[in-house]
Amino acid sequence: MAATGSWSDSSRSGSSSGRADPGSRGRLFVLSGPSGVGKSTVLGRVRSLMPGLWYSVSVTTRPRRPGEVDGVNYHFVSRQQFAELVAQGQLLEHAHFAGNHYGTPRAAVEQRLAAGQDVLLEIEVQGARQVRAAPGLGPEAVLIFLAPPSFDELARRLVGRGTEDEATREARLLAAREELDAEREFDHTVVNTDVQSAAAGLVQLMAGSRPGSPVG
Ligand code: ADP
Ligand code: 5GP
Repeated sequence: MAATGSWSDSSRSGSSSGRADPGSRGRLFVLSGPSGVGKSTVLGRVRSLMPGLWYSVSVTTRPRRPGEVDGVNYHFVSRQQFAELVAQGQLLEHAHFAGNHYGTPRAAVEQRLAAGQDVLLEIEVQGARQVRAAPGLGPEAVLIFLAPPSFDELARRLVGRGTEDEATREARLLAAREELDAEREFDHTVVNTDVQSAAAGLVQLMAGSRPGSPVG
C-alpha cells in the first residue's frame, strides 16, 4: 500500500446521533485508556448507538491480528511507509507503543470536522496529549479516559483476549501503569465495569457535550 492515498474519506458516515451538521464544525472526541481495558469492545457498542459518529481508522505498523481487516480495523503499513507519513506531516498525531507505531491520518479528520460531522479517535495516551496540544483542535477536543475497575482486572482482560504473547503483554501492562496515571489529564473518566453501562456512559457524555444533542 502506498504511504499516501485514499484515506481522506471512508463510508463510515451517517446522520443520526453523532452529528453531521454542515452549518457548524463537528466535535472531536478522543477515547483513550490502557491496552486491554475494553476500548474496542465498548466502541463497537457506542457506534451502533451513534451511527452518525465518524470513527477514524488509524495507521499502524503492528502485524494484523486474525480477523482484522485492512482499512477497517487499521491501515496496516510498513515502518518505512509510516516514517514517510510522519515526514510528510500526514498524521495528526502518532506514537510508538509497545513496539509498534500508530497514527491518525490528518486529512480525513479535518475534512469531517469541517463538514460538521462528529469524529471519534481511539488512541493511546501519548497521542491524546498531542491532540490536546494541536492548535485549533486540541482546546475544543473532548478527551475521555476509559478506566478498568482494577489493575488485576485489566491484566485478566489482556490475558483473556489472547492476542499477545507473554512478552508483548508485559510491555502493554508496563505501559498501562503509566497510562493509568494520565487519567487526570482527561476531561472525563468512564469506568468499564460492564460494557453496556460504559457504552451508555460514553453516549451520554458525547451527546451531552453540546446542549440539545440527540441520544440513541
Ligand atoms: P482495548 O481495545 O482497550 O485494547 P478490547 O476491547 O480488545 O480492549 O478488550 C480486551 C478484552 O477485554 C477483550 O477480550 C474483551 O472481550 C474484554 N472486555 C472488554 N470489556 C469488558 C468488560 N466490561 N468486562 C469483561 N471483559 C471485557
Ligand atoms: P492495539 O495494538 O491493541 O490495536 O492498540 C494498541 C494501542 O494503540 C491502543 O491503546 C490503541 O488505542 C492505540 N492506538 C490505536 N490507534 C492509534 C493511533 O492512531 N494513535 C495512537 N497514538 N494510538 C493508537
